[in-house]
Amino acid sequence: MTAPAWLVRVRGTVQGVGFRPYVHRIATGLRLDGVVRNVDGDVCIEVSAPSAAVAALTRTIRENPPPHAVIDEISVRPLGCLPARTGFAVELSAGGAPVAARGFAGLPPDLATCDDCLRELFDPADRRYRYPFLNCTACGPRATIIDELPYDRERTAMAGFTLCPACAREYHDPADRRFHAEPIACPACGPRLVWTGDPAEAYAEDALTEAVTALTRGRIVALKGLGGYQLVCDATDAAAVAALRTRKRRPRKPFAVMVAGAAAAGGLAELTGADAALMASPARPIVLAPALPGDELAAGVHPGTRLAGLFLPATPLHHLLLRAMARPLVVTSGNVSDEPIAIDDRQARRSLAAVADGFLHHDRPIRARYDDSVARGAGGRGRLVRRARGYAPRPVPMPVPARRPVLAVGAQLKHTFTLARGDLALIGPHGGSLDDADALAAFAATREQLCRLHRFVPEIVAHDRHPGYLSTAYALENAPAERRIAVQHHHAHVAACAAENAVEAPFLGVAYDGLGWGEDGTFWGGELLLASYTGFRRLGRFSRAPMPGGEAAVRRPARMALGYLYGGEFPAGDERAVDVLDRLDARERRVVRRMVERRVNCPQAGSAGRLFDAVAAVLGVCDDASYEGEAAVMLESVAATATGPATPLPWRLRTAGGLWVYDGGMTLAALVEAVRAGEPVAALAAGFHRTVVDVTAEMCARAAERTGVTVVCLSGGCLQNGLLAAQLPPALEAAGLSARLGAEVPAGDGGVSYGQAVIAAARTAAEG
Ligand code: ZN
Ligand code: ZN
Ligand code: FE
Repeated sequence: MTAPAWLVRVRGTVQGVGFRPYVHRIATGLRLDGVVRNVDGDVCIEVSAPSAAVAALTRTIRENPPPHAVIDEISVRPLGCLPARTGFAVELSAGGAPVAARGFAGLPPDLATCDDCLRELFDPADRRYRYPFLNCTACGPRATIIDELPYDRERTAMAGFTLCPACAREYHDPADRRFHAEPIACPACGPRLVWTGDPAEAYAEDALTEAVTALTRGRIVALKGLGGYQLVCDATDAAAVAALRTRKRRPRKPFAVMVAGAAAAGGLAELTGADAALMASPARPIVLAPALPGDELAAGVHPGTRLAGLFLPATPLHHLLLRAMARPLVVTSGNVSDEPIAIDDRQARRSLAAVADGFLHHDRPIRARYDDSVARGAGGRGRLVRRARGYAPRPVPMPVPARRPVLAVGAQLKHTFTLARGDLALIGPHGGSLDDADALAAFAATREQLCRLHRFVPEIVAHDRHPGYLSTAYALENAPAERRIAVQHHHAHVAACAAENAVEAPFLGVAYDGLGWGEDGTFWGGELLLASYTGFRRLGRFSRAPMPGGEAAVRRPARMALGYLYGGEFPAGDERAVDVLDRLDARERRVVRRMVERRVNCPQAGSAGRLFDAVAAVLGVCDDASYEGEAAVMLESVAATATGPATPLPWRLRTAGGLWVYDGGMTLAALVEAVRAGEPVAALAAGFHRTVVDVTAEMCARAAERTGVTVVCLSGGCLQNGLLAAQLPPALEAAGLSARLGAEVPAGDGGVSYGQAVIAAARTAAEG
């Protein structure tokens, strides 16, 4: 008698995570006859078995999936007949099978070295002892080595490495941990390390030794990582750190620090349970956490902020390096200033020649640029600041399915783009600042790679309204008007937060950030919106001030402060107020005053970010910003040192043009008085944060009263501020509202492309 036949289909991130050998193991254990294969992006299992046995199979899959699989859906349907078969087989992918048209094949991001591999790495008896490229089905490179889907070795950067007999045995054995681990390798058949520098050349273990020697001597090493080159130096060596800053032209922006393990991380920073879990997760992001006083890091590692960015090794090579150095290492993107991170050996040798004293290369090509991700532990979970290696290109859901494929080209700073199709969106990895030809070329390369992999042909192109963004220019040049959708910057911010949290429209949206192109000829950035996924209405905003010199005022918070004091929308104190900035050159003050009075090169901005800048300058915390958001980062750090509960500064809401307007000038004037009275800077900085929280809660409460909408989506770069992110939700809850924050989608401009995609899809659907 033959048992009935069934087709079990599993949807989600199920390829490249060891799913087929896992099914093989369970099915064999249950003594089922059948076969498992990858079909499009799914895993399909055909079995002949009584229904109870099939139920046992699906229950196990659902309750106990392989560690890195994400299961969206399991469906079971009876099959008419099945060829008689004894035993359980694993079938290989049919080469070039079409990718599911409705969404994206669940292509996993790169995964950090697993515990089993790590044990082998340091086991002298193992044939992969100290081999820097070991991996298995539970770990290793994925997104950074793929040429084409389906994900099989011959369509990856590993195609050129022929498996040795021992590796081939593991690769073909369904019972082995390395069964179809596409990138597997060993010292006999896989990639190897190459050192170039002084001495001229060394290979394999010798190459590693040279790199360690160089680092020990305070040198800077360019290391070929998973998704790009990284620059490495001894984090405890002040001279090395200073040299890296000079050569990389990065005066103060914090450097990330890699530490060998959780214990070492705990010795450097105050880590919550959430921070530690985030740090140890397979994505291995850089986690921002308060540094412990007296840590062993050189002072130049994170100047001006108490937050240190720490991360754990994600690859065997990093484990080997950390173990040999036995001290924390600065590990930062392999680029100069804001250039795209180098991924190509020749390009790296050229662009990093003046930065690195030596190169630790290897011969496994990098197919796609994935910078290290950055996250902040918050309220028991992680919130991404920069989403790249380990997270991208894992798809995120769309609240309204994209009936026509959407390419959303994002903003300018912290650039990302998004592909949306069906009910999924794929946010490309963080690509830095989109402001020159190199950055545009990197954008094109990543976009083309992901479009090719997913056979994605955009029909709609969504873009920002800012005419000066290169992303906007790209959209205008490459899509005809009827296929373009322009999305207001802050609408995109709040839609991204709402969509990630599956919020039903309408919702209130708070978007606090640096600058975004408004719809009235001014820059926005302190917005309260009543929004849906198709449109929005502005309900409130921050008061405006001139930005003397435009960009120059963004780079120089002191100028921004003068802008508020000389010519804010509402007067910010009297003439004496400016005296608090008398450390500034008298000539600069005169020039700025004239610019403001004559309205020469003084674009108007009603922005929370600019107000944070002005406050930082008035408090003497930061006059010049060497990187975007530096003044706010420093202000938060100072505020965090305040003792006792923060007292809000005076503030008021006015009305103008039918909007509630937060009069930032009044708060600034009060700060000036307080500084003059000698009140402690830390308390004032904390008080300013509290003020913004109170203002927001009051505006939102009024908006809820007027509209009946009580869900508030908080977004924009200012929500990366840990104090605001921690204080706003409870303040809103206390006012009877409920707050949502982004987690996987960054609150900053890295999340804008996803918001654009969501809005474009909803508008397209609304048009029918
Ligand atoms: Zn592994
Ligand atoms: Zn081998
Ligand atoms: Fe923004």
